[in-house]
Order: sequence, then C-alpha cells, then structure tokens
Amino acid sequence: MMTEIEKITASRKQDPQTLVVHDKHDERHQGSVTVPQYQTSLFSFATHAEFDHAAAEEPDRPMYSRGNNPTVQQLEQRLAQLQGGEKARCFASGMAAISTAILAAVRTGDHIVCVSQVYGPTRKLLENFLTKFDVEFTFVDGASREALWSAVRGNTKLFYLESPTSLLFQLQDLKYCAELAKSIGALTYIDNTWATPCFQNPFSLGIDLVLHSTSKFIGGHSDVIGGVAIGSKELIGRINESEYLLLGGVMTPHTASLTMRGLRTLPLRMERFEKNGLQVAKSLEQLPHVLKVHHPGLPSHPQYELGKEQMAGYSSVFAFETDLPVDVIKKWADHLEYFRIGVSWGGYESLVTVPTLPEGYESVSGPVVRLYVGLEDPELLIEDIKQAFKKVT
Ligand SMILES: *Cc1c(COP(=O)(O)O)cnc(C)c1O
Repeated sequence: MMTEIEKITASRKQDPQTLVVHDKHDERHQGSVTVPQYQTSLFSFATHAEFDHAAAEEPDRPMYSRGNNPTVQQLEQRLAQLQGGEKARCFASGMAAISTAILAAVRTGDHIVCVSQVYGPTRKLLENFLTKFDVEFTFVDGASREALWSAVRGNTKLFYLESPTSLLFQLQDLKYCAELAKSIGALTYIDNTWATPCFQNPFSLGIDLVLHSTSKFIGGHSDVIGGVAIGSKELIGRINESEYLLLGGVMTPHTASLTMRGLRTLPLRMERFEKNGLQVAKSLEQLPHVLKVHHPGLPSHPQYELGKEQMAGYSSVFAFETDLPVDVIKKWADHLEYFRIGVSWGGYESLVTVPTLPEGYESVSGPVVRLYVGLEDPELLIEDIKQAFKKVT
C-alpha cells in the first residue's frame, strides 16, 4: 500500500523547489541537516579488503577527493535529479566541464559542428586549442536547420549547442539537432547555463549531455566558480574514467557546499528573475535609442514560438541594440546607479556590459548592450535606465 505522500509524489512531476530543499535524515552526519564540508583529500579503510572493495567502485565511493568527495557528490546527485539526467560530475569551472567533456568526445581527425554564437572561450577552445590535435570544426548559424545539416561531414562526431546563446540569445531547434546527430552516430552537447535546469530539459528532446557553468544562476550569489556535466550513466562513466580523473579539474568541497546553498533557492529565484527580466525587457522596447531587444520571451524575438515549445521559462540575461555611438552608450552605463558594470550574471545583482562583438555576429550593426536583471525592484531598474538616457542625450 502506498502512503498518501507516496501517492502525491508518484502522481505528479516532482516539484523542483521541493527537490532542492528536501534531504532525508542522514545518520552519517549525526543528523546535521546540511552535508558537512568533507575538507579532506583522502579516506582510509579499516581493512585492506574494504579498501579493495572501494577501489573497485571508485569513483562512486570516496577514496581520494580528486575522484570523489561526499560534499561534492551530494551536489552532483541533486543536479542530476533536477536536470532529469542519470548522473552528474562537477568541475572546477564551467570551462573545465566544457573542455573535459569535449575532449572525451573527439580524437584526431574528428569534426565538430558548433553554433557560431557560442560562448567566447568555448569558441577559442575549438579554434586555438583543439586544432593542435587536428580536430576539425565548423561554426554554423544555429538558427538555420539548413546550415546545421549542410555542416555535417563523414567525420562529424559532435554537435555542440548553446541555446539560447548568451550575447544575442539565439536558439537552436534542439529536437532537430538531436535527431540529425543521431542519424549520423554523433553526440549532442548543450551549454544550458542560460535556461538552467528549471527552464529547459534538453534530455526530453534527445540531447546527450547537458553542461552548466554553476558560477551563474546555480551558485547564484556571485561567490563561486564551478561547472557540471550531466548525462547518462554510460556517457558520464566514460568521461569519468579518462578525462575527468586525468585532467583533474574537480570542484572543491568548499565550492560544492556554497553551490548547494545556492541551489536550495534556485527555482524560487528563477521565478523572480523571469518576471523581473521580462518587465525590464518590455519597457526597454518602448524607449528611444533602443532599436531592438534580444530576449527570447518577447513576441518580437524571431524564434519566440520555438522558445515557447522547448523552454518552460526565461532567465533574465538579454541584450538590446542602440542607435547611440559606443562611447555614448558606455557613458550611459556609467550613469546607471543600480546596474554594476561587469561580466558574468546569475547572482542577486543587476549588471551591464557593452561587449565588443566577436566573429559570428555579422547580423548586428550598432553597439549591443547586455543586461542582467537581478533581484532588485524592476520598476526602479527601469527608472534607472531612463534617467541614465536623459543624462547622455
Ligand atoms: C560563464 C559561462 C561559461 C563558463 O563558465 P565558467 O564557470 O566561467 O568557467 C560557459 N558558458 C556560458 C554560457 C557562460 O555564461
């Protein structure tokens, strides 16, 4: 017989906020409600037989903290559950997760199809680093099925996606990409940092591996650098056995503990970010000197319908194009009182940058401003934007 609570749990999808806050009583930690920081490099055993047993199961059993640490493991298990994957591994940074996972997928002579608006350092990894090992790549317009399809070669082993991208917020049709990749026996990876596990489940669309920089929304407080790769037991197992242990870019227990604290409120925060972000984006559309707002949650976004199909919500990083010259818009940024000038995003605080656009952004003519809307009152943020425009125009 099922209890009432078991019936509720079975009858509906696990509520994400409950998932991230509920831990069972754990005798290992004297009833401590948080998993303590296991600030240790290694774990010893009472007998050599137990040591041998643990060694056979490493890295699922704590032996040495480069392979496994219980504080990190708790975060990994929770992130895998929240994202809907079987297994997760945490890394020292988002880039450690991305580079390790890509290195696990390709060898000399292989080819990668990658979206042209991909996160800058990921682009450099392909252009400047993997070329040392003669790994080939093609950067494609991720919004075009035709471009993705035409980029396929006989040696294509990986589709590397990022949807939405984090400068112009372009989407890819994830189901189409996954089917295309499967038809040629290639893997699909996605950088899901923007949407977070709350707003996009790429596994349900056939994607093989989901990557996040946990430095952004998941950590959520602008105080940690970390990353995670989530996928099937088989795929994570493969990364684990070679690149994960050998490159050694692992997350520390201290970072895992802070990240777990951030994760406890992720679904709650994402609800507010979505609301605040949309409110500011909609107001911006009405302002002079704002030519175009790039936010996938606005009906004016060219892929608005696709976004509604494959995402459950929107985070609060977006951009706008302006007709003001770049030096003037940078002065405008100086006049903002509630937006701090800086890269990154996903913390509590609103941010602004006027990035120099790299290759892959030929569709944009004028300066682009990237905004991150934090947890401040959105009305106040809109007034702030307006007063700064008054000062420079
Ligand atoms: C920040 C970021 C990364 C890299 O993560 P780090 O933790 O800084 O190494 C990768 N992808 C996206 C979309 C990011 O915003």
